Amino acid sequence: MKFVDEYRNTEIGRKLVQRIKSISTRPASLMEFCGGHTVAILRHGIRQLFPPHIRLLSGPGCPVCVTAHHDLDQAIALSRTPGTIITTFGDMMKVPGSELSLQRARAGGADVRIVYSPRDSLDIARHNPTKQIVFLAVGFETTTPGVAATILEAEKTNIVNFCVKSLLKVCPPVIKALLDLGEVKLDGLICPGHVSAVIGSRPWEFIPEKYRIACAVTGFEPLDILFSIERLVEQIEKGEPKVETTYTRGVRPEGNLQAQKLMEKVFESCPARWRGLGTVPASGLKPRAEYSRFDADVRIPVTVKPAAEPKGCLCGEILRGVKTPSDCKLFGEKCTPENPVGPCMVSSEGACAAYHQYGC
Ligand code: SF4
Repeated sequence: MKFVDEYRNTEIGRKLVQRIKSISTRPASLMEFCGGHTVAILRHGIRQLFPPHIRLLSGPGCPVCVTAHHDLDQAIALSRTPGTIITTFGDMMKVPGSELSLQRARAGGADVRIVYSPRDSLDIARHNPTKQIVFLAVGFETTTPGVAATILEAEKTNIVNFCVKSLLKVCPPVIKALLDLGEVKLDGLICPGHVSAVIGSRPWEFIPEKYRIACAVTGFEPLDILFSIERLVEQIEKGEPKVETTYTRGVRPEGNLQAQKLMEKVFESCPARWRGLGTVPASGLKPRAEYSRFDADVRIPVTVKPAAEPKGCLCGEILRGVKTPSDCKLFGEKCTPENPVGPCMVSSEGACAAYHQYGC
């Protein structure tokens, strides 16, 4: 296959759905870890194609949504520190913190700028030598190599007024934390394709080995997702869980070694706060000691009050797969994409935003 419409071929899709229905005899709860998969599943009406005993649940794989309130409050406090310019991806602007969002902080005079790549922050740093530029790094393993490369470029070109507030996270530890919680019983997991393009498919092997849960690493087109569901259902029916990759055009078992090397050179593992899951050991990344001058937590430490989650918001439960957006009383009434109460209604990968746009 060469073109995107080949991954949307209706006839092949119909055959895959028929096959899934024909082999599926037992209940199967499948979680799509990644917010990108949630959006694709809703956009293409994939959930409605299956009988009710095949359930698709959303997981914690939206980096904006899982950014903890406390971390967001720290980012907002940084934006209000005199002489500071915050650079961030657009999705973070409207996420409400305890008191306000970055967008509101900007309306109140903070210098917060949207960038499309971490590297754009270096140009801003060059043009504003008297200011401290703080890139708000939010993302998973997919985003991290670009942030690492930006730090190395800042070092090489001697840009001294640039640092990173690292809210970067890694995915396998949070899946482990979620499964250890045992709140939601899963039979299969749709593993994130883009993250796996960097880390490979091997880091997911603990899931079938330890938890006996079927895994499929897949892409974001409808046929990718249907094919992954077909593989998961077959594994579940046979009682033979393993990791299968249906996204072979993007994922190798060992991943992208060059990107991994870049990440490991600049970052080291640390505990991270996840919305809905609390602090998960070894699930975050911070600059190594030799790059600490690029670490905003070292350069410009800020203190914030303990954060309170928005009243009535179920984002934490939705991210753990125990509730859906339609369980939230605020959904579509007090909480809309124009006036979001929680991050899942803001992010382009948020489950609430996707349910709102494409229907439940
Ligand atoms: Fe939170 Fe809004 Fe989603 Fe409810 S609908 S869980 S308030 S983001």
